[in-house]
Amino acid sequence: MLKSPAPVFRGMDFAAVAETLSTLEETPSRLEMTEIVASLLKSSGRDLRTVVLFIRGRVFPPWDPREIGVAQKSMIKCVSTATGTPAKKVEETIAALGDTGLAAEALFTKKPQTTLTKKKMSLAEIHSSLEKMASWEGKGTQEKKGRHVIELLNSVSPNEVKYLVRLVLGEMRVGVGEGIMRDAIAKAFGVPAAEAERAFSLINDYSEVAEIARTKGEAGLKKIGILLFRPLRPMLAQTVHSVQEALDNGCRAWEYKYDGMRIQAHIKNGEVRVFTRRLDDVTHQFPDVAEAIKNTVTAKEAIIEGETVAVDESERPRPFQFLSRRIKRKYKIDEMVRDIPVITYLFDCMYLDGKNLTTQKMKGRRAALNKIVTEGNHVKFSRTLITNSADKAESFYKESLKLGHEGVMAKNLGAAYKPGSRVGYMYKLKPVTETLDLVIVAAEWGEGRRANWLGSYLLACRDPDTNEFLSIGRMATGAKDEQLQYLTDTLKPTIEFQKGKFVKLRPTLVVEAGYQEIQKSPTYESGYALRFPRLITIREDRAPEECDSLDRVASLHERFTAKK
Ligand code: AMP
Repeated sequence: MLKSPAPVFRGMDFAAVAETLSTLEETPSRLEMTEIVASLLKSSGRDLRTVVLFIRGRVFPPWDPREIGVAQKSMIKCVSTATGTPAKKVEETIAALGDTGLAAEALFTKKPQTTLTKKKMSLAEIHSSLEKMASWEGKGTQEKKGRHVIELLNSVSPNEVKYLVRLVLGEMRVGVGEGIMRDAIAKAFGVPAAEAERAFSLINDYSEVAEIARTKGEAGLKKIGILLFRPLRPMLAQTVHSVQEALDNGCRAWEYKYDGMRIQAHIKNGEVRVFTRRLDDVTHQFPDVAEAIKNTVTAKEAIIEGETVAVDESERPRPFQFLSRRIKRKYKIDEMVRDIPVITYLFDCMYLDGKNLTTQKMKGRRAALNKIVTEGNHVKFSRTLITNSADKAESFYKESLKLGHEGVMAKNLGAAYKPGSRVGYMYKLKPVTETLDLVIVAAEWGEGRRANWLGSYLLACRDPDTNEFLSIGRMATGAKDEQLQYLTDTLKPTIEFQKGKFVKLRPTLVVEAGYQEIQKSPTYESGYALRFPRLITIREDRAPEECDSLDRVASLHERFTAKK
């Protein structure tokens, strides 16, 4: 007797998900959006994880290092070949519509249909197809990926093309942020939103949180704990303007504020992985940090936190730019390790030998850290002072600045570690330099000697309500040739469209900008304008969502006007 074939899991059609994404894009209300996402999640069944990832414009969860590896430029070529449109025309369409997905949809709509009966692609098929692409390596990979994207684009409807293009480029733009996703999961599976958020802050992946909520409910979410080699979201600091303000907020522990890169190191039986504050795995770029931690930490399993700083021969801190050269470097790492040595100053321990320490007080966590670390040349404890004396804290702050550090961190000894939040357990105190961390959203090609470099960068701050980026000024000074080259190389792949010398960029890169004054102005979307903005540093350790908010701009403006 013939055996019946094993049932094939087909699940949802990609077209159905694309339809919902369209609806979401046209829905302005947050509440309605949450309802729509919740009902999609509810009906996703075994496709749930993929649905959650796709809505957020991802093929892989944030902690997964895999990448599709198809940039804007290659996508333009693919759309051009697939639709028989000259590349220049594709670029013009992108410029006119302001988005590659929309442009691709428009060009595919015009394209005469060759196949009358297109087979519907399932969501699972699209996902595994993209997953496969990410695994290709070596010579000829780019061409192979290009052919594959063309094939995929040709197999779906124009509406699906729009979202497929955005997915490959990693920018979904339907406005579903982490907050909406959290609430939708809560609604779809009847779990408390706070529980979903807690789980997310520990495992950093809403697709997994959703799957656990679906299959195991609230009890399942409650069981989620810290996972080794899966970075937690770091606890964030608030700002104070004086030592007294920190004391008033209950802080008694003072530490040097080092100007480097925050790292979270995961240790398990001698294996060490190093993650940044943005949760990227940088073990490859910083083998020296991993090695030094391996040699100084005695625990079998631990998650510890610190700041890695570039230093000179006398262990004095070097400016952040030195370290920043190491963060993005993929090749010749040995040279970097030799030329830009670093010291890691440790300040916290969130997990130790099977025990989650985040709920313990800072005092206990620090004691745990002290117990498992022996200081070496490249790993040290952050310099700390415990005092409730404003005078002593003030001199400690001055001493830190004198040694070339950024200021001090003031911490509450009795407080837990709250992953991912800015709860007021830790404060930063720096001299008021009034700098702003802003994201670059557009630029212009230079002239003459600078014709090959992007210059005159349009900067934007973040609207905390909508998470949109609002322009605030043009920065054309402060960058050295080397930085202009770096900015150009980094920003070029993020060009969305070009018109004459003007290029619109995907918001990806944050810079610290100085300026003379903030004024109210109708010229920019934020309603404010920076006078004479200049580049201080490039902050690739910051995610665009972490740039300064419109609120901070408004309060700085207020302080400016008050001082006048
Ligand atoms: P900011 O980057 O200005 O928001 O200040 C907070 C950052 O200071 C943290 O994310 C760390 O990267 C850094 N930092 C430097 N030294 C310390 C320290 N001793 N404790 C905590 N964070 C520190």
